[in-house]
Amino acid sequence: MTEGAAGVAASPLLGVYKPPAPVFVRGHGCELIAEDGTSYLDFTSGIGVNALGYGSAELRAAVEAALAVGILHTSNLFRTRPGEALAAQLVAAAFPSQVFFCNSGAEANEAAFKFARRWARAAGGEAKHEIVAFQGSFHGRLFGALAATDRPAMRAPFEPLMPGVHFATIGDLEGVERILAGRTVAGVIIEPVQGEGGVKPVPANFLRGLRRLCDEQEAALIFDEVQCGLGRTGTLFAYQALDVTPDVLTLAKPLAGGLPMGATLVGERIAAAVQPGDHATTFGGGPFVASVALAVLERLSDPGFLAEVRSKGEWLGGRLAVLGATHAVVRDVRGLGLMWGLELEGAAAPIVNAALERGLLLTSAGQNVLRLLPPLTIRREELERGLGILEQVLE
Ligand SMILES: *Cc1c(COP(=O)(O)O)cnc(C)c1O
Repeated sequence: MTEGAAGVAASPLLGVYKPPAPVFVRGHGCELIAEDGTSYLDFTSGIGVNALGYGSAELRAAVEAALAVGILHTSNLFRTRPGEALAAQLVAAAFPSQVFFCNSGAEANEAAFKFARRWARAAGGEAKHEIVAFQGSFHGRLFGALAATDRPAMRAPFEPLMPGVHFATIGDLEGVERILAGRTVAGVIIEPVQGEGGVKPVPANFLRGLRRLCDEQEAALIFDEVQCGLGRTGTLFAYQALDVTPDVLTLAKPLAGGLPMGATLVGERIAAAVQPGDHATTFGGGPFVASVALAVLERLSDPGFLAEVRSKGEWLGGRLAVLGATHAVVRDVRGLGLMWGLELEGAAAPIVNAALERGLLLTSAGQNVLRLLPPLTIRREELERGLGILEQVLE
């Protein structure tokens, strides 16, 4: 890239990203094909979005059917069927709740904060408005979601953010209890498996402890499953393997197969506190994206499909454990389902770059964790091929 007179790179795109050189023009299965014809095996899935891989026949059929109807959008001034059907499917699969649709993970979390506040104030008094989040959290880049995100470098240039967020430590229930005892907290937000924070599954007993504290102190327990939800960990929702149910569940990344869509599932008590006019979005839950999401959800909720994710995940985890044990640069291997992290001695970026040169797309989570998020449809032999490249670059 050439530099302009003012030192600004000569790209028409604002410089908030720093992508590598290949320009992708086609996709097929778990591979992306660049302009020069090179194929890349994709262990990123567009950050956990492309759960069904590229060029899936069912996605294509869903998109074409949704187009054929001729309504891409009506706004939420009017009713359409696909969003109602999708909400009904999500509720049937999760817990008694109602659904607010939006367009991204950060929006889903910001809606969760508003709904939690609306309910907590009505139930527990005007003071109840604060949010508890956790060390290592990532909830998105908007001012509210960023305020609950524990990444100093992402936050510092943009402060002041939304006030009233406390950060607690995973594992320290007493710390959370002390904060909640002040009766000022509306909601506690946590990712059952931290993604950006380094692929860290949160112990189930800690989540159950949060459930108890939230019940005692009338705070909403919010699970951010934007990354770990919708089949990624081998159950439709990550919380379903943990014997604890949240009051609010946020979803996004894979929900509409690559089209922008987020969802905030809100349990009955909180839903009852939300009134017409409390929140809104122009695009959220439109008939086009919702129709596509219905097809995605049908596939992701199939028990056979989820069983496959679990068995591929166990196999992958076993192979990564061996890789970790035999390579001194690997400090820790963590994950479940098809969401894995390799914590390295040094920075992950050089490994990501070296893998790209050999035709494998990886991403990092923070400075020194390699993150593996392959499409959930990936085949064993593709996992094997990717592991081979990973092994080469670690050496
Ligand atoms: C990606 C992510 C978000 C933010 O989603 P956007 O669609 O980028 O706004 C929020 N929470 C978690 C856990 C995520 O992984």
